[in-house]
Amino acid sequence: MNDPEIKRRGLMLVLSSPSGAGKTTLSRLLLADDPNITMSVSATTRKPRPGEEEGVDYYFLSTEDFGLKVNRGEFLEHAKVFDNYYGTPRGPVEEALSDGRDVLFDIDWQGTQQLMESAEDDLVRVFILPPSGQELEMRLKKRAQDPPEVVASRMAKASDEISHYTDYDYIIVNEDVDMSLARLKSILTAERLKRKRQVGLSNFVRGLQQAL
Ligand code: 5GP
Repeated sequence: MNDPEIKRRGLMLVLSSPSGAGKTTLSRLLLADDPNITMSVSATTRKPRPGEEEGVDYYFLSTEDFGLKVNRGEFLEHAKVFDNYYGTPRGPVEEALSDGRDVLFDIDWQGTQQLMESAEDDLVRVFILPPSGQELEMRLKKRAQDPPEVVASRMAKASDEISHYTDYDYIIVNEDVDMSLARLKSILTAERLKRKRQVGLSNFVRGLQQAL
């Protein structure tokens, strides 16, 4: 945490990975552990999976409604992933950042590239890799929420997704969840302390100098 009297701009922590690399678990643990970061809830045209809740996991939209929002500029970024559309609602993110709160994004490489064009200064990009192909397949099957043909198709696409690791600032090979979480928290701590994010520093330093 920074000193409370120093105002800070929030950052955008992007987590990307092939499905099954453990990104969802890591996100959940980070959010539970750190009150100053909230999840960006995306909109999607994909159908809800069992247990998924409207407004918590996603905003589930028809393709038509999604298109309307795209045209109205309501998304910070949007992309087609696995035959469905996904997008990040703009409003909540902009509000959080100017309030000094961080936002966590579970978005793919296409969305990350778009954010790089529009919000590079606020962006911290982390890519999660599975420890092996075998482990990835096992995790996808264990999840058992998707039908076998979806698992097969995600495995086939994993190699392509992984090739985009070069677009990211930090890489975590997720062999052990506790270790990966510790690494993610270290990244967040260091990024929060960057001078450019501590927008209240000049006031703070002026106060210090006046006292000298
Ligand atoms: P799933 O359907 O398994 O929840 O997500 C499939 C993929 O879509 C994941 O790789 C996830 O990171 C990505 N995704 C989820 N929301 C967004 C979004 O708002 N924008 C982009 N570009 N990708 C997203």
